[in-house]
Amino acid sequence: MKLILLGAPGAGKGTVAKMLTDVDGSVQISTGDILRGAVAAGTDLGKKAKAFMDAGDLVPDDLIMGIMEERLQEADCANGFLLDGFPRTIPQAEALKALLARLGIELDMAVNLEVPREVILDRLTTRRTCTGCGAIYNVKSKPTKVEGVCDECGAAVVQRDDETEEAISNRLDVYNEKTAPLVDYYRKEGKLIDINATSSDVVVQTIKDNLPG
Ligand code: ADP
Ligand code: ZN
Repeated sequence: MKLILLGAPGAGKGTVAKMLTDVDGSVQISTGDILRGAVAAGTDLGKKAKAFMDAGDLVPDDLIMGIMEERLQEADCANGFLLDGFPRTIPQAEALKALLARLGIELDMAVNLEVPREVILDRLTTRRTCTGCGAIYNVKSKPTKVEGVCDECGAAVVQRDDETEEAISNRLDVYNEKTAPLVDYYRKEGKLIDINATSSDVVVQTIKDNLPG
């Protein structure tokens, strides 16, 4: 499947994307994970991106499009991909459209994960992320077996630098201003489905039920 996952920070894009990779071998492409990897590795990209990310601001579109142009042409994308955290702005969506047309790829749909703001705030402040494999935990609803250690890969599980209250509130404002307009953009393209995303299991089932073909 070839999907875009839209939704506020904490809507569950990463969790749903990981669950969907088991359905048909489509790969999860998380621009947030790619950027955090670049920051951890101290690459040029990471150095350029870090300050934007820590403040909860968006990384400039040209850096993101450079990443995505390479990533979408890798061999593992041939089976399908789940775009998690991209596109995030109208210019990114326009650039993606041109890129996909050039590569001869057609999107199946864009999924809008809808979650009430209180749930989002609660999820983000209690969320913990694996520094090794990107697995997502929650101190209340999905703790690691050993505190601070990933069940999957053994790496450290931490609160992200952009999960302070101030950065979270900025990320939600940035989402409303820059990313929320993509919902109407994909609705006009005839690609959008809205899903109440309080339960990730329901989201995955609804996506499966709506896949074309
Ligand atoms: P979340 O969806 O939980 O906010 P992500 O892991 O998707 O978090 O992204 C973390 C940060 O990485 C964002 O706040 C932003 O700084 C940067 N980022 C990720 N994807 C993009 C993108 N498509 N465009 C611009 N910045 C991005
Ligand atoms: Zn891990």
